[in-house]
Amino acid sequence: MKTFDFIRAADPAAAVAAQTDSPTAQQGASVRFLAGGTTLVDLMKLNVEAPDRVVDINRLPLDAVERLPDGGLKIGATVRNSALAQHPIVRQDYPVLSQAILSGASAQVRNRATTAGNLLQRTRCVYFRDTAMPCNKREPGSGCAALEGHNRNLAILGTSEQCIATNPSDMCVAMAALEATIHVTGPKGGRSIPIADFHLLPGETPQKENALEPGDLITHVTLPPPAGNKSLYLKLRDRTSFEFALASAAVVVSVANGKITRARVALGGVGVKPWRTREIEAALEGQAVDEQAFRRAAEAAVQGARPQHENAFKVELAKRCLVHALKLATTA
Ligand SMILES: Cc1cc2nc3c(=O)[nH]c(=O)nc-3n(C[C@H](O)[C@H](O)[C@H](O)COP(=O)(O)OP(=O)(O)OC[C@H]3O[C@@H](n4cnc5c(N)ncnc54)[C@H](O)[C@@H]3O)c2cc1C
Ligand code: SF4
Repeated sequence: MKTFDFIRAADPAAAVAAQTDSPTAQQGASVRFLAGGTTLVDLMKLNVEAPDRVVDINRLPLDAVERLPDGGLKIGATVRNSALAQHPIVRQDYPVLSQAILSGASAQVRNRATTAGNLLQRTRCVYFRDTAMPCNKREPGSGCAALEGHNRNLAILGTSEQCIATNPSDMCVAMAALEATIHVTGPKGGRSIPIADFHLLPGETPQKENALEPGDLITHVTLPPPAGNKSLYLKLRDRTSFEFALASAAVVVSVANGKITRARVALGGVGVKPWRTREIEAALEGQAVDEQAFRRAAEAAVQGARPQHENAFKVELAKRCLVHALKLATTA
């Protein structure tokens, strides 16, 4: 691992100032914030990330979960994943978020991992983590080894010729269905970014993964007041613990008189970002709670899928995952 300066930030302004020197907020940035370290330190050990300066943000006062006056929720950037999943308000009003977080990693990792770090976790594509292999995300212009290589775990939705990496987060899938907003402070002041706009499609620039600018510090995430009387997170994977999703679904639906009146749905494990489209939700809204409607939504979910040679099974898996999640949620 390369040597680096280590700074412990005392307040958010100092943290922003310490990162503003960096020419980019993305992969390869010369200055990096350190939260739980469960993504960053792993990548530094592998020489995938080699910052000149690491700014520890763990002492910033960003670790509270608070009810907002409108009935929504404010989640501090450094709230640990375990604390968020077990928080009484989250368990009561946003169970899909609690379920998604608890389905990820292990208790030990969740005890360290933070809300902002989880939003910014990097892909698990094996070539991204292997500096001997070409990877456009790690080294723009070098090529994409996954196109002809191991791509069983990678994405079928939103991919480009440059990159087919999956966003691995479970928490973000639930946050997409809950329509979270990410709040940032930076050199130009504060900004709020809907989660749908936070993660970017790879297109021609897979190294640019999110909407952050140099110096931007995520301060907190807000959730709107709870909506939907049925919700569930379902994760399908090769083993039942300590494994990333092959396909997952977060569903938040309102049911009245046997009909779905409102639907918010996001998929994980299959997209280059947490995958939410209005087409899936439109296929459900106004429909009776029955398997036919669920199957129509599932077909809408995989519209435009571009499977690779090892992951064509994900098209059917994603559909079954969504149908089953909707069945479980609406019959609970
Ligand atoms: C073995 C293992 C298994 C895992 N399994 C799963 C799984 O099944 N599902 C799942 O969803 N996740 C899984 N994870 C990923 C885990 O959830 C993430 O590593 C974790 O959420 C990252 O949070 P962190 O606080 O440790 O981030 P860090 O490593 O501290 O930071 C990650 C990135 O975010 C940046 N950052 C952190 N905070 C801020 C901020 N406030 N503002 C701006 N930038 C910031 C850092 O600079 C860094 O680039 C697993 C991880 C491991 C190691
Ligand atoms: S899929 Fe993306 S992360 Fe994986 S090798 Fe290709 S460019 Fe790199």
